[in-house]
Amino acid sequence: MAKTFDVVVIGAGPAGYVAAIRAAQLGMTVACIDDWKNDKGGPALGGTCTNVGCIPSKALLQSSEHFEHAGHAFAEHGVTIKGLSLDLARMQARKDGVVKQNNDGILYLFRKNKVAFFHGRGAFAGRAAGGYEIRIAGATEDTIVATHVVVATGSLPRELPGAPFDEQRILSNTGALALADVPRELGVIGAGVIGLEMGSVWRRLGASVTMLEALPTFLGAVDRQLADEAHKLFVKQGLAIHLGVKIAAVTSSENGVTVNYVDDKGVAQKATFDKLIVSIGRVPNTSGLNGEAVGLKLDQRGFVDVDEACRSNLPNVWAVGDVVRGPMLAHKGEEEGVAVAERIAGQHGHVDFNTIPWVIYTSPEIAWVGKTEEQLKAAGVAYRVGTFPFLANGRARALGDTTGFVKVLADAKTDEILGIHIMGATASELIAEAVAAMAFRASSEDIARICHAHPSLSEAVKEAALAVDRRALNF
Ligand SMILES: Cc1cc2nc3c(=O)[nH]c(=O)nc-3n(C[C@H](O)[C@H](O)[C@H](O)COP(=O)(O)OP(=O)(O)OC[C@H]3O[C@@H](n4cnc5c(N)ncnc54)[C@H](O)[C@@H]3O)c2cc1C
Repeated sequence: MAKTFDVVVIGAGPAGYVAAIRAAQLGMTVACIDDWKNDKGGPALGGTCTNVGCIPSKALLQSSEHFEHAGHAFAEHGVTIKGLSLDLARMQARKDGVVKQNNDGILYLFRKNKVAFFHGRGAFAGRAAGGYEIRIAGATEDTIVATHVVVATGSLPRELPGAPFDEQRILSNTGALALADVPRELGVIGAGVIGLEMGSVWRRLGASVTMLEALPTFLGAVDRQLADEAHKLFVKQGLAIHLGVKIAAVTSSENGVTVNYVDDKGVAQKATFDKLIVSIGRVPNTSGLNGEAVGLKLDQRGFVDVDEACRSNLPNVWAVGDVVRGPMLAHKGEEEGVAVAERIAGQHGHVDFNTIPWVIYTSPEIAWVGKTEEQLKAAGVAYRVGTFPFLANGRARALGDTTGFVKVLADAKTDEILGIHIMGATASELIAEAVAAMAFRASSEDIARICHAHPSLSEAVKEAALAVDRRALNF
């Protein structure tokens, strides 16, 4: 007879593996199924995030930043390097090692928490007494029964019509993270988060990078003041960013990839690249799940249709992460995974969508939480602004990186923080204070009165909070 589990999670990306661990912590019997294969055909847990997303991209961003600093920034610190060279194979091997540590770490956590792991593709086979029958197709075939199912099957990169990924010349994030040589001419279609991060890596390592973006505004979702400043900085760094373009055709040949496009002035243009990264968004991945067998409802865009609490249209079937509405961010999926496990256990799991931070790991980093100035204006909310530049921060000067600023937006009447936007070194870390403050519904005065270590970049957050009340001390 098929083994029954209280919870079966399909997908071991950040949303799924965290849901499985939390459910096990809460005393339930849990299985997790994931089909990702490493280069030896074995399991590689962690999904897109660990294998071809967050983790490898940050490893390469770090390595390429070291390379750029060694070439350009160290001299100012009195550190001279002669004969600087790039060992890309070693850089890639290090990245692969970081990925493997994370893969193995999740497998260890499953063992520790007694989560049964199945390597293979999980699909609904039909209803079973008290739950759902899930068929697993992998090295071996198996069928298990789930009282609750958590669908966490993630997303896939969106292809440009007529230009399928071959991962040789036309690259998704997978190919973009695995290049064995630095391309001389690199094209990037889509100047969003992934495009900018990948473009930055390869520019730092020596590629000439051209970015083609369909939208007329740069980083449309980012607070305009930061986006405009970032645009200038990226162009200065050498990224050729073309906005408002319409891609007409992409043709791949022995000589490279040629992109025909119409620029923002309506003029037909043509560019040929050694490699082309296509980063125009991601689509939910429900292929192979066989949701039809049980009547799992998808929305118009192909996401599993869920309510605020991640409940699907079927009793005891939940869905979390990139496969459902909301920002495609690993930590958003993790929060949903935990909340669903707690709801299954009869608790009150909760995700606060207002305090999900966003980060772009370029140099400078860009991080924000809450509303932008444009959103507040559109909603007619009266607000006050405080900004503080890293130029006036002692630690930033000591680091040798004074780029960027912190911007705090607070309600004009109550002083409650409505948004914090940071551009600068370690913005990805600094944003945590802003998230905590907003989660506790702090005022700008609250941050202004908290003692911040000196000298630290975090003092810029305090100073920007002080600046809301026009009383910054160091600017
Ligand atoms: C280049 C890049 C960089 C990124 N950087 C960041 C970042 O810095 N920060 C951030 O927050 N987000 C980042 N993201 C986004 C992040 O990777 C995703 O939001 C996150 O991985 C989504 O998690 P998930 O668990 O929903 O799905 P996924 O991570 O996609 O995992 C889904 C898993 O389910 C498996 N699966 C699918 N169908 C089945 C099936 N039927 N049976 C068994 N297994 C199945 C898949 O193989 C996969 O292992 C990045 C993405 C990319 C591409």
